[in-house]
Amino acid sequence: MTDMDQALAALKQYFGYESFRPGQAGMVKAILEGRDCLGVMPTGAGKSICYQIPATLLDGITIVVSPLVSLMRDQVDGLEDAGIHAHFVNSTQTPDEQAQALAQAAQGRCKLLYVAPERLNAPRFVAFAAQARIDLLAVDEAHCVSQWGQDFRPAYLGIGDFIASLPVRPRVAAFTATATERVRRDIVSMLDLRDPYQAVTGFDRPNLFFDVVKLETKAKDRWVTSYAKEHGQESGIVYCATRKETEALAAELNQAGIPAASYHGGMAPAARDDAQAAFVNDEVQVVVATNAFGMGIDKSNVRYVIHHNMPESIEAYYQEAGRAGRDGEPARCTLLWNEADIVTRRRLLDMDSGNDQLTGEEAEVVRASRRRLLNTMIGYCRTTDCLHAYMLRYFGEEMENGAAAQVNSQADEQAKSGCGNCSNCLSTFSTVDVSDLARAISRCVHDVGQRFGSGKIVQVLAGSKSQDLLSRGLDRCPSYGALENVGAARIRDVLNQMASDGYLTITEGRLPLVQFGPKAGETVSPDFHYEIKQVRRAEPKGAARA
Ligand code: ADP
Repeated sequence: MTDMDQALAALKQYFGYESFRPGQAGMVKAILEGRDCLGVMPTGAGKSICYQIPATLLDGITIVVSPLVSLMRDQVDGLEDAGIHAHFVNSTQTPDEQAQALAQAAQGRCKLLYVAPERLNAPRFVAFAAQARIDLLAVDEAHCVSQWGQDFRPAYLGIGDFIASLPVRPRVAAFTATATERVRRDIVSMLDLRDPYQAVTGFDRPNLFFDVVKLETKAKDRWVTSYAKEHGQESGIVYCATRKETEALAAELNQAGIPAASYHGGMAPAARDDAQAAFVNDEVQVVVATNAFGMGIDKSNVRYVIHHNMPESIEAYYQEAGRAGRDGEPARCTLLWNEADIVTRRRLLDMDSGNDQLTGEEAEVVRASRRRLLNTMIGYCRTTDCLHAYMLRYFGEEMENGAAAQVNSQADEQAKSGCGNCSNCLSTFSTVDVSDLARAISRCVHDVGQRFGSGKIVQVLAGSKSQDLLSRGLDRCPSYGALENVGAARIRDVLNQMASDGYLTITEGRLPLVQFGPKAGETVSPDFHYEIKQVRRAEPKGAARA
């Protein structure tokens, strides 16, 4: 029997699966041949099998480094149920229990040993590792080693030293769902992977309907509530930007009769566990969470993931949205956004002093990289192309019919072919020339001396008769009523888009003011041309209907 015959037999014996999924066989083979590996596969693609199967076939122990202490017990229980001996050592155990687990492993009585990265340099663990026969080191969530990602864990930097300290170097297999080239390079260099076999797979999730909806901030809660109501029997996750928002929206959903829990990092661990358990056991339909929710949550029947706000990168978005439809059934991933979100995101990014361990110069490099990530996220919101294709292109995989999803935005109202499973491919777009509006907004900002917020500017341009406006004499400014036939919502939209495009800036503070941005000068040029995208939405067919 070849190695791969044995691997297939083990897959069937322990897990009852008939065949490997894309990417798995290559990884298993490479590990069995003694090579280092890097597996880049989205959540749910089946990374664990890639090291668990070799672990059953190798003579020595497989150490699995994982940041998810709370899940180790479940993983170990699952393996034991399958008939594979496994242990974990972590801080939830008493020193006695830890010693026992290590003793069992040292005697070769287990195949896999799960540890948190912090554990690797604990004296007891170092002593164990010096004696044990370690054939494979599997590093889960390996992107945590990169300071470019948002999940950077300093303890991951110690993994390289740990490997170097071992009497015999095991093969090292790293796994992540984060696919950018930069993070991939970091993993290879920080973990010192040697000529690693790399598998990047499974980023197409054809069962997910991707949906981008531009909405004013105050309309978002209503949208979520009515969606959840129409999908009362389905499980969903709503991601919000702040803890406060999660609580407010969960309360609103409960009030509307939809059982919902909130989840965020500020809650006590027990309350968080309760919320998670209630969701996993279908006691609540919806969990409204910050991005603290989700790493390692195994719930396959999540039918929708709604983002109440734009995430900071496509990776973050894909990872969070990808928690929908892990059972392969149709599921919907909706991103609610508006131009004001972008302004806020950019401001937060510029204010973030970053990691304390970085010098000023390094922090600026990190910020620049984050700005690039954010810009591709913004591109996702604004594109009229197929959303599946946009994402796949980003992850470096081209979709077969991606080209077909190209949209001529000026074209008529004809429905497009495309993937047929994203809001762009089901909607039609037109672009509207708003150059005159943008010029008028710019002039108004000038007229009021850059001393007012967006609300007042919209009122002035719309010619509002509000008492407050009149008492400040703003009705006497030259732009008063200049856009009275346009409608406040449109003015606000263009203003926000100008702010996110750099023609205007919105200051920080309790009462943000609209001022000129770095590109303000261009609006007075005779060549100035400015457009916004107008969407005519269509709804998906079939089960994922809104
Ligand atoms: P990841 O770690 O990539 O998020 P998991 O390893 O948790 O994914 O696997 C996700 C699910 O897919 C699990 O329920 C697992 O049992 C299942 N799975 C993995 N590999 C296979 C396979 N070859 N055939 C069928 N199911 C699989």
